[in-house]
Amino acid sequence: MSQETEEQYRSIFENAVEGIYQTTVDGRYLRVNPALARIYGYHSPEDLTDNLTDIAGQLYVDPGKREAFAHLMAERDVVTNFEARVFRRDGSIIWIAENARCVRDAANRIRYYEGTVQDITERKQHEEKIRLLATVFESVADGILIVDPDMTVQAVNPAYEVMTSFQREELLNRPLVLFAPGSHERSFIEDIWRTARRDGRWQGEVTSFRHSGDAFAASLSVTAVRAPGGALEHYVLTLADISQRKYQEHQIRYQASFDRLTDLPNRWLVCERLEEAITRAQRMRTKVAVAFLDLNRFKQVNDTLGHHAGDDLLKLVAKRLRNCTRVSDTVGRLGGDEFLIVAPDAADRASGARLVEKILYSMGEPFAVHNQELFCGASIGVAFYPDDGETADQLLRNADLAMYHAKRNPECKFVFYEDGMRERTGFTLGLESDLRRAAVTGDEFELHFQPKVEMEHGSRRVIGAEALIRWRHPVRGLVSPAEFIPLAEETGLIWEIGAWTLRDACRRLSGWIASGLEIASVSVNLSPRQFQDARLVNFVRDVVESTGVPPERLELELTEGAMIGDIEKAVTILHGLKDIGVRLSIDDFGTGYSSLAYLKRFPINTLKIDRSFVRDIVQSATDPAIVGTIVNLADSLGFDTIAEGVETEEQAEMLRRQRCTRIQGFLISRPLDVDAFERFVAESNVEREVPTN
Ligand code: C2E
Ligand code: MG
Ligand code: MG
Repeated sequence: MSQETEEQYRSIFENAVEGIYQTTVDGRYLRVNPALARIYGYHSPEDLTDNLTDIAGQLYVDPGKREAFAHLMAERDVVTNFEARVFRRDGSIIWIAENARCVRDAANRIRYYEGTVQDITERKQHEEKIRLLATVFESVADGILIVDPDMTVQAVNPAYEVMTSFQREELLNRPLVLFAPGSHERSFIEDIWRTARRDGRWQGEVTSFRHSGDAFAASLSVTAVRAPGGALEHYVLTLADISQRKYQEHQIRYQASFDRLTDLPNRWLVCERLEEAITRAQRMRTKVAVAFLDLNRFKQVNDTLGHHAGDDLLKLVAKRLRNCTRVSDTVGRLGGDEFLIVAPDAADRASGARLVEKILYSMGEPFAVHNQELFCGASIGVAFYPDDGETADQLLRNADLAMYHAKRNPECKFVFYEDGMRERTGFTLGLESDLRRAAVTGDEFELHFQPKVEMEHGSRRVIGAEALIRWRHPVRGLVSPAEFIPLAEETGLIWEIGAWTLRDACRRLSGWIASGLEIASVSVNLSPRQFQDARLVNFVRDVVESTGVPPERLELELTEGAMIGDIEKAVTILHGLKDIGVRLSIDDFGTGYSSLAYLKRFPINTLKIDRSFVRDIVQSATDPAIVGTIVNLADSLGFDTIAEGVETEEQAEMLRRQRCTRIQGFLISRPLDVDAFERFVAESNVEREVPTN
């Protein structure tokens, strides 16, 4: 070999990128080039040959590799692409590929091995990754599709086949059809690819379809795969079938959206519907009526007839509400005895009023609950979008507030929200703690008395008076009982207040008797809760005895509502009171439950005809007949009658014609404070004596 050639070979050996070596058969290095030293992590070829002296033991991670290598050499004289994992000097492991041959002497004995070494770690890792990915691709539950940038399907995994029942062959090398026809806007789909290209990824819910054509909800993620140079190579689509989850979500949503008792939308859903209606109304420039309905006597039904009856009543109310509203209206239950009606077609206040009137009319009919006919009644507050509020929340609150006003004002069954209501209500709401304080002392209460008269031969004789409580609030002035008696009932303060009333009324009466004021009797109102109180009978007896009033000169006014429910219990209480000797009357008669059937079982003295009959008696075609019927009924049962709320002579005359001769009302006198009342009685008795002279 010439000098020049020798140097050329040396240069190749020194500068090659592959490792080059010669080794003995028993595994020692004879010569190595710098590249091999570098691959194995040694400073120099000498460093390697000096320190790596046992190839089998030091180099191969799996020592058996050297044996396999020698075996191949012995058999074939060459080894090609022999892959093995080896230790570098620092103990780290790399993958190498060797190509080697053995060099023999003339006697055909192996002199040494020579070969080349390549570091293939990176390729191996890549392959490993691919293998892993392939495993994932084959075995995950999510469907995977790989498509070209031009949307030709390149690969489909088994999960996708299972999920959609499409066969791989039906999809491969064809254009991607992923979305159920008509399920997505074109722009939506375009946005998916645009976003994936721009951000590398898109994720969301889509509607895909199966081989059968059935659509299903899927969660889709699209990843754009780019070559190192940045060119878009593929999209990888991962698809999970979420139709089952969707179904469950729907179920849960349904359960969370509908009231279980009445099947009506619950508060959440009805508010949702209200919001939708607002959005539409905003677009169409129309109004939305929001009616807040609260039953008037629900608590009573619940307390006296039990929860089952209460539940049944609510179901019947729900049914009626649905029947008297349109399909486009939403009737929902807010909870308890509160309902909300959202009427998106209420073009104006007049049509809102018509709807509410219709609802109230249907609520006014009796409900058949547990073999009883119940009159429940309702109060409604109405707010309109956009006049009374911009948001569902505001409208709900304002309708509620208006309902509250309707409830506190027995004259009107429904109230439209008005600005300024909130201030007025704040007034009432702050009342509770004040009432609590007042109930303890009784100092702020006083009784006013309204005369009751008997009409006879053109004259009117005072036969008694009704004690009506007044609350003189230190700051707010006179507070109406219509406002604080319901509050006292709700808060339980009614017992203290009622006790005060009864004591004070009896004290007055005994005083009048002592002073010779001609007043036959005084009546005191008892609200349902007082009536149901177990302490009542003993308390009344105590007061009567301690004040010394003749019991027959004390009358107790009860409403029909107090006696619904447990009739036996009511009859027992009534007899308990009767035994004391006091008189009993039914107040507001005709408005409550249709208790006519068991009226005869009640040991009462008087039916007090509600002022709603009196109010219309002159104009109404039927009210005179109703009054006449009540009077006849009372007659046949041995009860007296008296009409309340008589304001005009015409009304008095109509009543007289129906043989109702006892009246009470503004026509005779407003409720008067004690001084005025005493004067009134004294004067009217003098007047009475005039015609007889
Ligand atoms: P009520 O027992 O039906 O009393 C009659 C109400 O009608 C009284 O209202 C009275 O002022 C009013 N009134 C009398 N004549 C006329 C009339 O000609 N026209 C009109 N429009 N109204 C008339 P008030 O005093 O505001 O009492 C309201 C309700 O509060 C009473 O209705 C009664 O249920 C209750 N209440 C009053 N005082 C007491 C009490 O001491 N205890 C209890 N538990 N309730 C009471
Ligand atoms: Mg009364
Ligand atoms: Mg009354």
